[in-house]
Amino acid sequence: MSPDPHRKPGSILRVAVAAPLMDAFDYLPPAPVSEGGSTAPSLLPGQRVLVPFGQGRRVGILLELRDTSDQDPARLKPIERPLDPHPVLGAADLTLIRWAADYYRQPIGEALFSALPARLRQAKPIIDEQVPGVSATPDGRALDLETLRRAPKQRELLALVRSVPEGIPVTDLNACLGPCAATLRSLRARGLLETCRIVPAGPVAHAPRVQPAPGPGLNTDQAEAVGRVAAGLGGFNPFLLDGVTGSGKTEVYIRLIEAAAARGAQTLLIVPEIGLTPQLRERLTSRLPDPPAVLHSGLAAGDRERAWHRAASGLAGVVLGTRSAVFVPLPRLGLILVDEEHDASLKQQEGFRYSARDVAVRRAQLLGCPVVLGSATPSLETLNNAQTARYGWLRLPQRAGAACTPRTSLLDIRNQPLQAGLSAVLREEMRTEIAAGNQVLLFLNRRGYAPVLTCHACGWVGDCPHCDARLTLHLARRRLWCHHCGWTRPLPSACPDCKGTDLRMLGRGTERLDEELRALFPGVGIARLDRDTTRRRGELARLLDEVRRGEVQILLGTQMLAKGHDFPGVTLVGILDLDQSLYASDFRAPERTAQLIVQVTGRAGRAERPGRVVLQTRHPEHPLLQSLLRDGYTGFATTALAERREAELPPFSHLALLRAEAPAAETATAFLNQARLIAEGPDEGRAEPLADSGVHCYGPVPAPMERRGGRYRAQLLIQSSQRPQLQRFLAGWSLALRALPRSKGLRWSLDVDPQDMY
Ligand code: ADP
Ligand code: ZN
Ligand code: ZN
Repeated sequence: MSPDPHRKPGSILRVAVAAPLMDAFDYLPPAPVSEGGSTAPSLLPGQRVLVPFGQGRRVGILLELRDTSDQDPARLKPIERPLDPHPVLGAADLTLIRWAADYYRQPIGEALFSALPARLRQAKPIIDEQVPGVSATPDGRALDLETLRRAPKQRELLALVRSVPEGIPVTDLNACLGPCAATLRSLRARGLLETCRIVPAGPVAHAPRVQPAPGPGLNTDQAEAVGRVAAGLGGFNPFLLDGVTGSGKTEVYIRLIEAAAARGAQTLLIVPEIGLTPQLRERLTSRLPDPPAVLHSGLAAGDRERAWHRAASGLAGVVLGTRSAVFVPLPRLGLILVDEEHDASLKQQEGFRYSARDVAVRRAQLLGCPVVLGSATPSLETLNNAQTARYGWLRLPQRAGAACTPRTSLLDIRNQPLQAGLSAVLREEMRTEIAAGNQVLLFLNRRGYAPVLTCHACGWVGDCPHCDARLTLHLARRRLWCHHCGWTRPLPSACPDCKGTDLRMLGRGTERLDEELRALFPGVGIARLDRDTTRRRGELARLLDEVRRGEVQILLGTQMLAKGHDFPGVTLVGILDLDQSLYASDFRAPERTAQLIVQVTGRAGRAERPGRVVLQTRHPEHPLLQSLLRDGYTGFATTALAERREAELPPFSHLALLRAEAPAAETATAFLNQARLIAEGPDEGRAEPLADSGVHCYGPVPAPMERRGGRYRAQLLIQSSQRPQLQRFLAGWSLALRALPRSKGLRWSLDVDPQDMY
């Protein structure tokens, strides 16, 4: 369409609606633009608008104002109205989110709304943040409080209000002093107080401001790390903070937050999991003058929205959040920190698939600020960026303070008699530690009682009817459970096939280990930490508390143990069964296993007591275990990176995975075959064959677990040594895929930089 000469510049509104659609849509301004008038001044990019869409209306975000449309302007509809007086996303936010939607080939509307509180997907106004409050008048501030000694309630109330110069919400007064309407009236009548409207800062803010607690003096490594990042404030400078567990990474974050705050900048701190935030939050709160704004999906919607406002208004100095916090608008942002950057949960695995770590780096680059990726077990991608000097490499090889690094040894359990899965050596060491008043941690990465239930007479095995998977036996709940689709059935008393009653439980999960340990170590305090024992709210905190108070001598659990909690009293760690994951098919399996071992190990011996780690295995010669023990995580990573280079796997190539699933295997495969044909076909606007453009297509192949939840899953892998080439290919290809006719029951998704290959 050629520009319409009568149309004012910028009178086409490009709007992304809150729906999983790749495209944005063109609209006209709400009221006809009057002759000689300009576009309605209140329409700005980043503003929420209500638009007619299909048969109904949708909330959208105004992306830009254009001069022309690709569509016939006569057929464009006007938007209904703007929803808020101001944009909810700034220009920098729009740039970042549009980049992410483009890079990950995800719907723009989904991406935009992931940056906003959920309520704003609906046509509701932004909450008026202001509430009724009172503040002291000049007379009220000058008054000698002694003159009110006959009116103690008035004196107390006035004193409280005077302590907060900007005023206190009336609801907070009631919460602090009980109902006080009459007292308020008297003070107002005497001209000592006046009403006002204020933004509540939350109850913490009214607690008398205590001086932040001082931190320990930094050691040389920490000081150097802080110095190098602080010197990089004000420009794009990416860093890997490569510090063993307990080396004081968090301490480095705190100093950096202070350095950024001294320049008036906000800091964004991203963590992988909700379970980690309470400890970190307490620490930040006690050390910084203002509490952090906390953002994660476990919060009540209202709390989350309030925190979002504190962040987006620039009020909060520090924002602590999980994944999606990486998109939160921050007008004064000057520093981004990503803790546990290796953690797979930083990658969103459904809907809008993105890596919060990678988006964080991009955000820092667009904005021009430092980004620090911290980990004791850096991902091979990040480590490679550090080794090739694309990232600054900050190393904290020693534990901070007096703590020393635990010793790790392999224990060959071939031909060893085991009790409760424990070798005699490990049992003996456990007894010694317990007798000395120390704690023992046992790591078994499988929950439930037993992973297999079988009939001794006929060989029947309890399989999930919907998945290619065994049912796990949960004895306490007397059920068989599928850990993949959630299907469950009562524990049968006889074999469903031959009616025989000799049903046997094979293998061992944490529930069984728990039971066996109680028999093996009578009278010893035992706590189990897995998803089953921590399902109820508050249960995790209670268990951790028991451990900390020393009521527990043996702590056993799944990989939950590897996540951020410290167990200073633990002097012995037993890693019981990792052999399966040594031979898993996913190319990231060795990396994940090494990270798990090092992270679990890092929980022990934090205080002055040295820790010891015993790793039971039937494959003591395995190269992964050997390199890990000999050279530590960095040694392992060097070996693993060499293997990745050899195999042309990330970070030495770039991947995208097209997944498809359907009730029938053929449907999924047919779709992927078609996708492959399109990819390799000549009419893709590409002159040369696909392989010549440096992009390779592998598959389709069935997913490692082909049937799950009653659906058959298959995948097609796209690989390229060059990111720009992959991106160029995906742009055209993903559009063509969306144009394909939909087979019944077919679902598919495209995952750029996939973390898991299933
Ligand atoms: P990480 O985040 O690397 O696991 P932390 O910052 O939590 O490490 O530090 C581990 C422990 O060491 C904490 O108890 C912390 O208070 C303490 N610590 C950190 N830095 C120092 C230091 N320079 N001197 C003494 N103790 C320190
Ligand atoms: Zn049977
Ligand atoms: Zn199942």
